Formats: sequence, C-alpha cells, structure tokens
Amino acid sequence: MHFKDAVFLEDLCPKIRFRQWRQSIHKFTEKSCIYCGKPSESIDHILPRSKGGLSNTENCVPACLSCNGDKSNNEAFYWYRKQKFYDPRRAMAIRAWSDGDIRLAVRLLQWAKPSLKTLIKPKTNESIEFDAA
Ligand SMILES: [Zn+2]
Repeated sequence: MHFKDAVFLEDLCPKIRFRQWRQSIHKFTEKSCIYCGKPSESIDHILPRSKGGLSNTENCVPACLSCNGDKSNNEAFYWYRKQKFYDPRRAMAIRAWSDGDIRLAVRLLQWAKPSLKTLIKPKTNESIEFDAA
C-alpha cells in the first residue's frame, strides 16, 4: 500500500479511517490488552455487539486474542470479575473508558502497569519493551 494514497484516501474511504481509529485505540494502552496487559491484537467490545454494543471508542478496548475470544459474548465487567488476572485498577480503568474518560482510564492502567509510564514521561535511555513479551 502506498502511504501517499492512504493519506489521500483517508478523506474518502471509511475503511482507512476505521483502521486509524483502531490504531488510536491500541495507542492509548501502548498496545497492551486492557484486561490482562498482554500485547493487544484485537479490539474488544465492552458491551458485545450482539447485545447492542456500539463500535465507538467508549465501547471498544484493546484486547489480546485470548481475552477477546474467552470473553466472547459476555459483558466485559461481568466476565472480567471472574478472571484470575482480575485487577480492580484495571476494572476501574475499563469503567472509566466506557464512560468516555480515556485519560482517566490510561492513568489507571499506568497505575496497574508501571511500565506504561513511558507513555507520559519517556526516558531517553529506556526503550519500550512490549514487543519482547
Ligand atoms: Zn488479555
């Protein structure tokens, strides 16, 4: 794909805008799953589409394939509470996210996962390590 074409098509093609939107979702958490912190490979609907959930930022969170698949058609808060990796800070983050307060959600996630601090205060001699996992 040609980058220049993509920039041009952005205004015309909803698919490309959709992809950029997805990328922006992953960016909020530095491509880590909002539920378990592993690398996020997919977008999960907090309220499943099958239950009327919308595909907007408030209802869509970065998730790894494992969480996304396991959660399936369950409502996120209900499902997450039963997981071994349940973390109340992440639960609060998901709640904030669904309320549309992404900034608060990101701060709560940084609290749950201190390495995410690089998102706000990058240190020059420190590389981001989520690729290593
Ligand atoms: Zn996960």
